[in-house]
Amino acid sequence: MDETNSESTAGGTACAACGKVAHAIPLTWVSSRENGETRYFCDTCARESIRAIEQRLDSSWW
Ligand SMILES: [Zn+2]
Repeated sequence: MDETNSESTAGGTACAACGKVAHAIPLTWVSSRENGETRYFCDTCARESIRAIEQRLDSSWW
């Protein structure tokens, strides 16, 4: 499967919290959709902000 729709940072996806860039989104990263924009958090930041993310998302998302 090719992801031709790349609206993320060129060459990779950056963590919305710490700016860490990954060329492919690891399974440990968490995506959060805010105002039609998808943000990604690395595993470290996801662990710290997981509560905030959960509060913003509908429970059905999980
Ligand atoms: Zn991060």
